[in-house]
Amino acid sequence: MSENIKTNSVKMLANLREVMAQDVEGQARLDQITGLIAGELRTEVCSIYLFRDEETLELCATEGLNPQAVHQTRMRMGEGLVGRVARTGKVVNTDDAPHARGFRFMPETSEEAYSSFLGVPIQRLGEKLGVLVVQTKAARVFSEDEVIALEVVAMVLAEMAELGIFIGEGAAMSARHQQPVLFRGGIGQEGASQGHVWLHEPRVVITNPIADDPERELERLHNAVEELRVGVDQMLSSAATGDKEQLEVLEAYRMFANSKGWMTRMQADIDRGLSAEAAVEKEQSTARARMEQVTDAYLRERLHDLDDLSNRLLRILTGQGAQTGAEMPADPVLIARNIGPAELLDYGRSLKGIVLEEGSVGSHAAIVARALAIPLIIHAERITTEALNGDYILLDGDQGIAHLRPDDTVITAFRDKMAMQEKAQERYASIRDKPAQTLDGEVITLQMNAGLMADLPSLVGSGAEGVGLFRTELQFLIRSHMPKRAELSGLYAKVMDAAGDKQVTFRTLDIGSDKVLPYMKPNDEPNPALGWRAVRVGLDKPGIMRMQLQALIRAARGRPLRVMFPFVAQREEYSAACAEMDKAMERERILGHPLPASLDIGAMLETPSLAFAPDSFFDEVGFLSIGGNDLKQFFFAADRENERVRKRYDTLNVSFLTFLEGIVARCKAHGTPLSFCGEDAGRPVEAACLAAMGLRILSMRPASIGPVKSILRRTDMRELHAVIVAARIRGDQSVRPAVMNYLRGKL
Ligand code: PEP
Ligand code: MG
Repeated sequence: MSENIKTNSVKMLANLREVMAQDVEGQARLDQITGLIAGELRTEVCSIYLFRDEETLELCATEGLNPQAVHQTRMRMGEGLVGRVARTGKVVNTDDAPHARGFRFMPETSEEAYSSFLGVPIQRLGEKLGVLVVQTKAARVFSEDEVIALEVVAMVLAEMAELGIFIGEGAAMSARHQQPVLFRGGIGQEGASQGHVWLHEPRVVITNPIADDPERELERLHNAVEELRVGVDQMLSSAATGDKEQLEVLEAYRMFANSKGWMTRMQADIDRGLSAEAAVEKEQSTARARMEQVTDAYLRERLHDLDDLSNRLLRILTGQGAQTGAEMPADPVLIARNIGPAELLDYGRSLKGIVLEEGSVGSHAAIVARALAIPLIIHAERITTEALNGDYILLDGDQGIAHLRPDDTVITAFRDKMAMQEKAQERYASIRDKPAQTLDGEVITLQMNAGLMADLPSLVGSGAEGVGLFRTELQFLIRSHMPKRAELSGLYAKVMDAAGDKQVTFRTLDIGSDKVLPYMKPNDEPNPALGWRAVRVGLDKPGIMRMQLQALIRAARGRPLRVMFPFVAQREEYSAACAEMDKAMERERILGHPLPASLDIGAMLETPSLAFAPDSFFDEVGFLSIGGNDLKQFFFAADRENERVRKRYDTLNVSFLTFLEGIVARCKAHGTPLSFCGEDAGRPVEAACLAAMGLRILSMRPASIGPVKSILRRTDMRELHAVIVAARIRGDQSVRPAVMNYLRGKL
């Protein structure tokens, strides 16, 4: 780096610091800054453009261009060279601006006289704030050093903007993080809620971006990086060796922590006058900007790793730990880039909602959020950058929308919606202890689905008559290692304790397909949903299945035990699984352990094949539970995880209902107890139709029990059945329109 430029940048930053310290209006500050940059870099023009909304930039200060254009000249993102810098987040450096790609002439600025143009983005941690531009009449390409010097200045400007130093008149200079922002994401868990932002990882605030003792800053950086390296090495040595993913992340951390390029760039920035923390954040901002452009999943992950590492380093440097001393609000809505299931469980039910920048419907965090019945919005891009601790936020989990700092009209509309939901909840609570008896006297048993200890309080609260499906894989999914038998039996025993006299149906491990254990080698299968999953894995590798069956038997300790095997496609699989259970019982007997008082073994009917199993299967199986989620995806050959096709086929399609009716008839003929435990059991209209098709036990999310019971108690099943039959005879594709017509007024 040339000494001259280095001095320039150090001097510019020293002057900037003076401007920061002055007690003047934001506009006066910006004006001074453009003057001093133009002076130091010896350019005729220096201009600062800031965003007035997400799409529009506004000229907010200039040295050299027509002063009348300030706050008048605006451009859209991507428009002209300034808009190009803003959109791409990349530098534009040209000695012939009028002929550069995208140039747009702005007559009011009188900029036609300038040939060379250097524009750098003003951005902070992925948040685009504006563009800093210098221009000269003489044609020249700015040197790399000059570009970097301007980037350093832009970085400090971003910090200053974040600190609220440029607040002034008009939208472009209004305080940051004060405006209402709407985030459209994906639905992780339905429900509406309101509360105040609680950032899982609080933002680090840098109050001193400029430093005048580079020696000292370098020493601070070195010490902090050393502390970081030691920390990463410690994490590596204590990481579970089987956890490939965790090791991979830590190795990436180590790689970055030892990366010469990373260090050299930060040292150079310190040389130019930045403080150690500002140098770290500048690198982090660059990585975030790159992240937006990278589509390769692996590379994105690594950039995320670098981001995490920078956060750690910033915390070391600023002393701002994860605990900032801020008080968690009474009604916290958790905002995070992503979160692990165990961390989410730590927050527990205190959360009013969760908004993630990443995540997916099938992610473990989503599973936990569902179990806790907390509204969850996923893919809310950039919310961690925009939201501040304590901000008021409304979540519409049904639409996947978050309103951050909403205005009054939104609040009023939203509160109306919440009030309606609360009224409905009161209605559900009033029938909690009443049976789900239809108008024609049929009694439907409503049970709940569970999988975590956190679910169990709902057993009392929801009015569920038992646990119709306990998904045991969740206990395997939320850990970073295979749970031990004693751990599992302790947990299953607690579930039975909590259930008391109510029945619990444990489903053995259902892994594979979308549920991949973090500590098991993933199988590279072309169609995992049709692949090696559930009971197929259990039978081929019986070690885990035996351990689990033993844990269940031990947990029962003289109590009744009910177990079902998932994804049974043919009778032989069921018989083989039962044989494993027999062996496990025998082993326990020999060991002298108390056996369950009774043993009820069943299968999940999740593939059409099992509906056509021989009669002897229906006699042999203790009970059947229809896993409607899987059964429907195989019936229609439509992936349940694929948004495009998932909703294409209606559960109330005549063919599917007729198919279900056939299963009910076969079970009836053989006296085989039958239930339905897919998601459709928890949807009121679908649940009523399932009951009309003859199903008498439905198992669903606890929060669905109230709404389902409410509709069942107001419906005459014979009438509803007649409506369905009439629609079928008419040849309707789906009975939904006819059913909705009939139910109108009952919902
Ligand atoms: C189902 O397939 O309907 C079911 C209940 O099992 P899971 O959703 O866990 O696959
Ligand atoms: Mg299933």
